[in-house]
Amino acid sequence: MKDIFSNVIELAKKICKAKLTEGDRAVDCTMGNGNDTAFLSSLVGKDGRVYAFDIQEQALVNTSKKLQELNFLDRAVLICDGHETIEKYIKEPVRVFLFNLGYLPKGDHSITTQKETTLQAVQKCLNLLEPDGIILLVIYPGHDNGKAEQEALVRYSSTLDQKNYNVARICLTNQVNNPPELLCVEKVLPR
Ligand code: SAM
Repeated sequence: MKDIFSNVIELAKKICKAKLTEGDRAVDCTMGNGNDTAFLSSLVGKDGRVYAFDIQEQALVNTSKKLQELNFLDRAVLICDGHETIEKYIKEPVRVFLFNLGYLPKGDHSITTQKETTLQAVQKCLNLLEPDGIILLVIYPGHDNGKAEQEALVRYSSTLDQKNYNVARICLTNQVNNPPELLCVEKVLPR
């Protein structure tokens, strides 16, 4: 693998590739324009399932268009609701949860993820996570909400019992301007 750490979004995608095989279930917890939903759909294959959440109706419009172009529509379930309501929609174990937090770069910056609801969602994802499955969170501490999410998520995830979870935080300590960081919560396999 080349240039593993220059971009944490790409690193999160590499981890998705390593974890997912055809037939798996994955969740894009922040659908946005559907780039990550499309990527996860390519990995789970025609027998797999990707659930995707966003609170903006426009996200579902943009994402279904993208999935249709790729012929992936039948692999995905698009949900217009907050990820903090996940238990209402998903009743089966999930191998990968992906959160790309914050706001859409070219969208309305006031519509952004919030630490309270992000934390609620992560706690609910833990209940649905398969053994050896992973929750990946790309966090943007360069804006106020993102900083608050970073602090809350790091504090909460560091309390998870190491017998049950491996928690890793990847931040690029020599990059300027508060670069995004990646927080990973992997559920350990029973021994
Ligand atoms: N994954 C996206 C893509 O591939 O284009 C980018 C996601 S963007 C950085 C963050 C998204 O999270 C925004 O579209 C925003 O509407 C959404 N969002 C904000 N609060 C949310 C919530 N409580 N539940 C689900 N999505 C939320």
